[in-house]
Amino acid sequence: MTTSPFIRIESVVKRFGNVTAVAGVDLEIGAGELFALLGGSGCGKTTLLRMLAGFEVPTEGRIVIDGVDMTAVPPYARPVNMMFQSYALFPHMSVARNVAYGLEREGLPRAEIEERVAQALDLVELRTQAQRKPHQLSGGQRQRVALARAIVKRPKVLLLDEPLAALDRKLRERTQLELVELQRRLGITFVMVTHDQDEAMTMASRIAVMDHGRIVQVGAPAEIYEQPNSRFVADFIGLANIFDGEIVGRADDRLRIRCEPLGGEISATASEGPAAGPVAIVIRPEKLSLSTSDVGSGLAGTVRNIVYLGDESIFHVQLQSGAAIQITRMNADRRAAGAIGRGDPVRVGWAPEAVVVMPR
Ligand code: ATP
Repeated sequence: MTTSPFIRIESVVKRFGNVTAVAGVDLEIGAGELFALLGGSGCGKTTLLRMLAGFEVPTEGRIVIDGVDMTAVPPYARPVNMMFQSYALFPHMSVARNVAYGLEREGLPRAEIEERVAQALDLVELRTQAQRKPHQLSGGQRQRVALARAIVKRPKVLLLDEPLAALDRKLRERTQLELVELQRRLGITFVMVTHDQDEAMTMASRIAVMDHGRIVQVGAPAEIYEQPNSRFVADFIGLANIFDGEIVGRADDRLRIRCEPLGGEISATASEGPAAGPVAIVIRPEKLSLSTSDVGSGLAGTVRNIVYLGDESIFHVQLQSGAAIQITRMNADRRAAGAIGRGDPVRVGWAPEAVVVMPR
């Protein structure tokens, strides 16, 4: 991490009766990061976010923000603000009043409130809609009101719980980039919860992948995708071909791995993965090449299915070993999609660098 830790989560456990929602998390988040907590339903990401906000108290461990132990600090006194999935806007109040509400509760002078509300509405480009009621806005505009309301209080940390869940796909994609841009301009640390890996990959500077109340990997999006540290992460993020293998030798910087599904022995670049014994190997579908020529290198197989997605196609190929493997190909040429058909014999190739080796 390049920045100094601004949020420190130390051995945090949260139990609700006999349910362990967070099972021991250690995490440091730097000032100015856009950090994503990513995981499937029930993995504990929202509970972790709520503990940062102060809505839940850790059963064990502690949370330090900006050098201050937050254990005894109530939500309103923390340098954080939370934006909820539902936005929780007041329906009877105008946009401006919704945004002003928190500042009015703090009893700030009217002139300052007006100035800060105007600034916040400018930032989210809603100045001209200031007098409308929430029901007179689009979903994307409501999302921006919620955001304005959260940033008007100038928190050091903004917590976002599935901030874009209510938006349709196109709007969500555009808003993702707008949020990143806004975060950069504000310089506020954002911690976001999402179950959507594309959203985390698009927006976050770093991602923590969670499973069963624990963080299983933390890293930049490319690190998590290219160097997953477990089967779970490889499988959760993007498409992955995963096979069992066994390291049988090593020559220079190459590992020799016995992998029956891939037709015998394969070669992988030795990296920080295991040095011997049973392993899982992962090859991402876009790292595989697919050709129709019967000569040349590569494993022989037969195309069983093709999923056409417009920009790319996913080929489901059955190898001679019986194993199924997925290969993605960009449809760079308008005729490319039809070039290989179901039932065609093909050859599948890859470079040793494409193989990620991890403990089984
Ligand atoms: P989702 O994406 O579905 O919201 P999540 O990863 O955010 O999931 P959490 O809401 O943190 O998951 O919940 C983690 C676990 O803790 C779940 O099993 C949930 O049922 C349980 N849990 C959360 N809050 C409570 C509560 N107040 N009382 C009892 N159990 C709870």
